[in-house]
Amino acid sequence: MSGSLFADASKRLEKALKYVAISEDAGERLKYPKNSLSVSIPVRMDDGSLRIFQGYRVRYDDTRGPGKGGVRYHPKVSLDEVQSLAFWMTFKCALLNLPFGGAKGGITLNPKALTKAELERLSRGYIEAIADFIGPDIDILAPDVYTNEMIMGWMMDQYSIIQRKISPGVVTGKPVTMGGSVGRNTATGTGAFYLLQAMLPKFEQYPSNTTLAVQGFGNAGMVVAELLYQAGYKVLAISDSQGGIYNEQGLNIPEIIQHKREHRSLAGMYCDETVCNLGDNLQISNEDLLALPVDVLIPAALENQITAANAKQVQARYIFEVANGPTTSEADAILAARGIPVFPDILVNAGGVTVSYFEWVQNRSGLYWSVAEVNERLQTRLVAEAESVWRIAQEFGVSLRTAAYIQALNRLGEALDAKGTRDYYASKA
Ligand code: NAD
Repeated sequence: MSGSLFADASKRLEKALKYVAISEDAGERLKYPKNSLSVSIPVRMDDGSLRIFQGYRVRYDDTRGPGKGGVRYHPKVSLDEVQSLAFWMTFKCALLNLPFGGAKGGITLNPKALTKAELERLSRGYIEAIADFIGPDIDILAPDVYTNEMIMGWMMDQYSIIQRKISPGVVTGKPVTMGGSVGRNTATGTGAFYLLQAMLPKFEQYPSNTTLAVQGFGNAGMVVAELLYQAGYKVLAISDSQGGIYNEQGLNIPEIIQHKREHRSLAGMYCDETVCNLGDNLQISNEDLLALPVDVLIPAALENQITAANAKQVQARYIFEVANGPTTSEADAILAARGIPVFPDILVNAGGVTVSYFEWVQNRSGLYWSVAEVNERLQTRLVAEAESVWRIAQEFGVSLRTAAYIQALNRLGEALDAKGTRDYYASKA
């Protein structure tokens, strides 16, 4: 794919608009982000020098509730990417019927090159810069790629300092001791696992006859791989930013996780160790992983991984998108023509925002739930919405992605129309 990520993401909206009965006004409004904020963040580095970092926050839509979305730290963060991620959050929240709009934030940097103290100053500086733009009833932050619960804790603390009151509801994915929800740090992977378990039997795929490959071994990919392993599925390959490993007998996922934990760098925030350094497994590249002959392929790293250039090489029979935007619209068309169903990101990775919603509810009520309660509510909500997406896909004869957008659009359109003033003007004519 060449050109803007947002332009490509918007093609999914255009496609689904043909199937819904929402007003033209509502459809038009959803083609544009509501607010975009671009900030520069000065940070005093450990050696005394000053560095300025570029940050963003985009609130795409807040018709159904406050904006909601993660914050990404990555060298490739751009306004185009943050806007696309905020767009996906809008549809994801509506798809899961959560009382939130969609938002996203990011800072352009290689976080692994900063010390922990520098990262803390940067994270607090980001909140200083966007404080007027966010809030528990305005726009709520969460973790995304290369941000974690420690960073969320700093952000919540900084916002509380600015407000001069404890404001846990401004950030989800916080440490449990600061008002975080149990089950939040594993929620994206757990949700994806519930979904795989509910959907694969429709294709007669069960733990005993299903092999998988997972691209990306971070917060989301690691958890889903571990749950699949524990349930008896064979995970043949995994990868991270440095490459991947393959074993045709199936990888020992708990051993790999243990290895990563033991080799975590103590000086910084991130694990220096790569899965590539492990054991007798065959080393493969990320490109190789995407083309493996497995039953299920799970992209769980970054966007634009399955493109027009490699979609023909995909040998998996089903794709479950844990990452946001891993498949371009051109690749979607190729996969559809080849009869490979793609379970879309806004459904498969919605476990994270669903438990973020639970965290926000707990922060506001002051009553905290058990992990069993969190997971049960997550499973019930996610599987019910997935079944409904499945039915829409059958009914309209469309892809699962278009079905997910139809479901989200119906809810968004209804809310936008309920708020609109078009009828007042129409009645004057
Ligand atoms: P993370 O930072 O915990 O992990 C990212 C992983 O991807 C790491 O293993 C990293 O090594 C790997 N990676 C980076 N570049 C890669 C590349 N080019 N090829 C292969 N692997 C690469 O991030 P995460 O939170 O697990 O997020 C992963 C994806 O899931 C992102 O698309 C994110 O937007 C999405 N997501 C995350 C959450 C959440 O709650 N964390 C929720 C919804 C969606």
